[in-house]
Amino acid sequence: MEEGLIKKLMTKVKCDVCGRGYEVDNIDIVGHEENLWFIKVRCPFCHTQCLVAAVVKESKVPEVTSDLTEVEFQRFRDKDGLSGDDRLDMHNFLKDFNGDFSRLFCQK
Ligand SMILES: [Zn+2]
Repeated sequence: MEEGLIKKLMTKVKCDVCGRGYEVDNIDIVGHEENLWFIKVRCPFCHTQCLVAAVVKESKVPEVTSDLTEVEFQRFRDKDGLSGDDRLDMHNFLKDFNGDFSRLFCQK
């Protein structure tokens, strides 16, 4: 699991306070223990900081996502040039990720 991918996934998470999305620059990987990742995020709009724990099941992660560049990720998201299986894997991965992350602590 690459830190870059964790950050990109976190950009799909909305700020708990103002409901706006985080940007990659606002996301710091604190560390990880096997599948458990600790991520520090800072909202660029209301400046609330949160510590987030995410459990990411690596077995669900397709190889193709391991080293995507920003442009490639856009293509991936736009479902451009990928097989149905790839899309399904990513869908399952995102579903798992969204179900297994929680904010531990927030402060403004
Ligand atoms: Zn916010």
